[in-house]
Amino acid sequence: METPLGLGLERLLGANGPSVCPVAKLIATLTEAEAELLQRVMLSSASTRQIHNELTASGFRIGRDTIANHRRGWCRCNGGQQ
Ligand SMILES: [Zn+2]
Repeated sequence: METPLGLGLERLLGANGPSVCPVAKLIATLTEAEAELLQRVMLSSASTRQIHNELTASGFRIGRDTIANHRRGWCRCNGGQQ
């Protein structure tokens, strides 16, 4: 039995995780509506401290610096650094 090439390659991605930062990984776990809301607030003038407080209150454990870096585009999502 031949296995299509794509399947094996997809498994490699799963093993190493997608090349994105914890913020993007968090967004990927949310419902579509929540993900859109979070992405909108990330682009808004809300402070990173406020966003971090809200996420923490909702039970999400993510660093404030991680959020700040994602908002500035200094994370792995943007250009594959690190
Ligand atoms: Zn990111």
